Amino acid sequence: MASPKVAVVGAGVIGLSTALCITETCPSCSVTVLSDQFSPNTTSDVAAGMLIPHTYPDTPIHRQKQWFKETFTYLFAISNSAEASEAGIHLVSGLKAAGTQMYTRKVADLWELHSEYDIVVNCTGMGAQQLVGDKQLFPVRGQVLKVHAPWVKQFIRDGDGLTYIYPGIHKVTLGGTREKGSWSLSPDAYTTKDIFDRCCSLEPSLQGAQDIKVKVGLRPSRQCVRVQREVLSQGGVKLPVVHNYGHGAGGFSVHRGTAKEAAHLVEECISALQGSSSRAKL
Ligand code: FAD
Repeated sequence: MASPKVAVVGAGVIGLSTALCITETCPSCSVTVLSDQFSPNTTSDVAAGMLIPHTYPDTPIHRQKQWFKETFTYLFAISNSAEASEAGIHLVSGLKAAGTQMYTRKVADLWELHSEYDIVVNCTGMGAQQLVGDKQLFPVRGQVLKVHAPWVKQFIRDGDGLTYIYPGIHKVTLGGTREKGSWSLSPDAYTTKDIFDRCCSLEPSLQGAQDIKVKVGLRPSRQCVRVQREVLSQGGVKLPVVHNYGHGAGGFSVHRGTAKEAAHLVEECISALQGSSSRAKL
């Protein structure tokens, strides 16, 4: 198989970083990203993007530490590079440089891709609940405010991490909420006022913040992140699938580590496909 065709479904931080890792790990692959939404309309756009270790109870702790360490090392190198000020667009520009195609498409069933692609990578976040019927996946709703307050340079986070002020390159993120099982993507006016008041009590100068925008996202939560190979099969035809979803409240913090692991699983799928095609020739 000269140039295996890989479809990555999903264009949040997990889909884009996985697509990038696949192009780095398997340069002979032709990689296409398919997604019904792109930035700025994904959960990943709502996040403050802080690197904070989160625990996934059913993922072995050594694996979580490895994911976090790889992500930290990767982002630390970018922050020390000439591209640091453009870090926000690093993923997309990296993919474009690698010749990755991106198309808007809602995938109703992974099997619908079997005649177009050799391998499918599922990075659909909360969308995996419907796409692959994963009942272990549940939303943890988060509402935040994105405000213009360029004088705020340092982050503040209260004891349980529910109230926080995280300055970013363009906006300051004020949070937040953690509502398990809530699917509502509509901003709640009472919560908006509550978040603003809580943050102003930590940093009174925020009373002067401007251009206040309310954002809501559903953290795709699971007891363990699903980074796993699966082979779908219908009528003797097989489709190798690699899953990479369920990062809950820590997608940014472990994205590079899980993306690298998913890319290695794609490599394994390619070896298996090459093995079966050379056996078929004999
Ligand atoms: P998403 O960003 O939701 O991307 C999923 C993609 O799949 C989307 O492009 C979607 O359109 C696509 N898709 C879904 N279904 C289909 C389908 N059937 N067909 C085609 N495309 C499909 N994490 C941190 O590490 N640090 C933080 O500071 C942090 N803060 C957060 C604050 C809030 C308020 C929230 C809500 C989350 C926060 N997180 C944080 C968590 C982080 O945002 C998530 O873990 C991460 O965004 C998950 O990324 P994802 O790519 O899996 O999902």
